Amino acid sequence: MKCPACREEMIVIEYKDIELDVCSSCKGVWFDAEELELLLGSLRLPVEELVRKLGEKSSEEVRKCPACRKKMEKALVGPGKGEVIDRCRRGHGLWFDGGELDKVVHRLRKPEAVSGLAGKEAEEKIGSFLSDVLFAEEGGK
Ligand SMILES: [Zn+2]
Ligand SMILES: [Zn+2]
Repeated sequence: MKCPACREEMIVIEYKDIELDVCSSCKGVWFDAEELELLLGSLRLPVEELVRKLGEKSSEEVRKCPACRKKMEKALVGPGKGEVIDRCRRGHGLWFDGGELDKVVHRLRKPEAVSGLAGKEAEEKIGSFLSDVLFAEEGGK
C-alpha cells in the first residue's frame, strides 16, 4: 500500500493482532476500517464516538484513500476540539498524518479528556495501545 501523503511504500506493523500500515518516511499511519473496529471493539468503544464529522472546511491538503484512491474527507478524532484527520468516504479507513496520531494519544491521556466518551478506562487503553505502537515503531528497527 502506498502512503497517501508522500507515496512511499508503507510498512505493516503488527501489534496485538492488529495490523497498521505505517509510512517510515513521513510517519503517517493508516488504520484499516477492520483493524480499527477490532481495536475499538475490544475496548467496547464505538468508532462513531471517537471519530466525528468536521463541521467546517479545512485548509489541510486533501488526501486520497490508499485503498480506493478516492479523495478522503476531513474528520475530527479524539476528545475536546479534536484533531483533524482524513477518512475514506467509502469506509476503508482512517489516515493520520505524521504526528497526528501522537497528538490524539496525548489528548486521550489527559484527565480532562474523558467526558462524553465511553469512559476513562477505555481511553487510557487506547492511549497506551497507540503509544505502544508508536514506541514499537521508533524502537523496533
Ligand atoms: Zn509517507
Ligand atoms: Zn477508500
